[in-house]
Amino acid sequence: MSLKPRKTIEIPPDTKQLAEKLYKRKPTVAFTMAQQLSSIFQDEEFADLFPTRGQPAQSPAVLAAVVVLQFTEGLSDRQAEEATRSRVDWKYATALSLDHPGIEHTVICEFRSRLLENGAEWRLFEKLLEELRERGLIKERGRQRTDSTNVLASVRELNRLERVGETMRATLNALMDEAPEFLQDAFKGEWHERYGRPFFNMRLPKEDSKREKLGEAIGRDGFDLLRAIAESSEKERLEALAEVKILRQVWDQEYIEKPDKSDGPKFRKPEEMKPAAERIASPYDPEARWSTKREHDWVGYKVHITETCDKDLPRLITNVATTAATTNDQHMLDPIHKSLAARNLLPSEHLVDRGYTNGESLAFSKRDYDVNVIGEVTEDHSWRVQQGEGFEKANFAVDWEKQVVTCPAGMKSSSWKTDKTGQTQVDFSQRRCRGCPNRSVCVGEKATHRTLSLQPQLQEEALQAARERQKTDEFKKTYAQRAGVEGIISQTVRRCGLRRTPYVGMAKTQLQHILIAVAVNVIKFTEWMHDTPLARTRRPRFAALHAA
Ligand code: SF4
Repeated sequence: MSLKPRKTIEIPPDTKQLAEKLYKRKPTVAFTMAQQLSSIFQDEEFADLFPTRGQPAQSPAVLAAVVVLQFTEGLSDRQAEEATRSRVDWKYATALSLDHPGIEHTVICEFRSRLLENGAEWRLFEKLLEELRERGLIKERGRQRTDSTNVLASVRELNRLERVGETMRATLNALMDEAPEFLQDAFKGEWHERYGRPFFNMRLPKEDSKREKLGEAIGRDGFDLLRAIAESSEKERLEALAEVKILRQVWDQEYIEKPDKSDGPKFRKPEEMKPAAERIASPYDPEARWSTKREHDWVGYKVHITETCDKDLPRLITNVATTAATTNDQHMLDPIHKSLAARNLLPSEHLVDRGYTNGESLAFSKRDYDVNVIGEVTEDHSWRVQQGEGFEKANFAVDWEKQVVTCPAGMKSSSWKTDKTGQTQVDFSQRRCRGCPNRSVCVGEKATHRTLSLQPQLQEEALQAARERQKTDEFKKTYAQRAGVEGIISQTVRRCGLRRTPYVGMAKTQLQHILIAVAVNVIKFTEWMHDTPLARTRRPRFAALHAA
């Protein structure tokens, strides 16, 4: 496919005329996009994604409009094809003639692949944000807020027995396609019965002893197959197959085999297993991870959405970050700020929940990006604070330069030890604490003397300042705005299909999230243009009465 970029894309007059007749009074997102944002995507900007020779390709500007519209309504590629064939507002937004048969779903899918293969995932997102910023809809160094939500992988959740069984099946199927002769030699009679059907728990034995026996049999089959591959004349080619690599990884994470193979392979005990972040949850999406949050667990990914929340301006998504499901929110503020800084979109105030905040994220956001992170931090969990009496850390004066801490009774610390991670342990003299009248509210019954644990200075000071700040009314008033970000999460889930990815792998899932962000920004812009009031949180009548 080759591209001959068109300078401008003309909307056929009959399409324009009919669309205006039908949608002027009640405009749709596609209609508003055609009227207000038709010029933002141009062929020229995508020219590098296409070869210069071959059959003429569909205009990328048109395809860009299609994929954005597709995500505004959460449509599949086939449904998007149907929309470009049958809907006048879509034909208007994509500059197609009224009798155009529609853009084929394969072409839409291929365009997304081109974006991914050429590292152009962010192009549509950045182009739209640039336009919205030029229109004054994004305040420089304004206020933004971030929250995360879980994303289900396009695979079913497997228990351990299902996982090893399915991994073996996936490998046998791949070998059947790639090296049938090899498989014929390595094949064992019972494999057909064991791996002929998908592994569903309801079909597996219920008794523990039988399940254990089946697990061992599958483990032995997998090790035998890996050994046969290693001894094969086609070793290199077969070991390079993705399914064989996954089989090796899954067997390594799930089984222990004695070196002399005197006993069948055994499932690893929980304490012998790698952390969840390194474990494959399904052979059909090896990048998806199993994770849990509160009482909910899932296999897949996590996405962090950042949006603007300045007064009198539309809420617009400025960043999306897709991670493995196991990535802790506490590690995300730095990459989010880095990404915002690269696009010159850093806020001055960033509202986040306590999942994102710790001494490090608070301190480094200020130091490296000049961003004030406004979020609740975990309270001091010591018994003194819990009981509402006693001397907490804030009552001690720390002299970081001299490496001395002075307690509320005026005594100086007796030792200051900092380890490799930068954590400092401070001790006070046993003798002095023993004779101190404050001993019961400072040291307690069990300890012999008072100790303090300090993070590195910058983090410790940021944490203490945040603990003090969160007691103020001003903080509570500002922080209340954070909750609004849940509205955008809800919109992306309900309207754009964010909750479950239809794709396999992190890269494609992230592309989906970026395109959803573009779509949501188009929706938000449309609502802004038509003075659509912000949706209010629905409150049951009884709760409203109570609040009143
Ligand atoms: S118990 Fe020890 S550390 Fe605590 S106030 Fe008394 S002297 Fe200071």
